[in-house]
Amino acid sequence: MSIHKLQVIETVDPNTRVIDFDGLGPLMRGTGSVSYLCGACGDVLIEKILRELHPLPVQPGQVPPTVIRCGKCRANNAIP
Ligand SMILES: [Zn+2]
Repeated sequence: MSIHKLQVIETVDPNTRVIDFDGLGPLMRGTGSVSYLCGACGDVLIEKILRELHPLPVQPGQVPPTVIRCGKCRANNAIP
């Protein structure tokens, strides 16, 4: 099992796709061994996907293509 925290970003660029998750519990759930937590509150956002996503971090000035807005604390978590 491999667990990672997602990187929280303060400002969301207009070109970034926002997945506004207004529930609790994982947004995605699979049968793998890699999970991703909200970088602010530690809630599980992506549970047990099959493989690791590309490494973080997002560099200053770089626009992440997608963020997940945490349903619990509303932090914007960049998807690598
Ligand atoms: Zn959160």
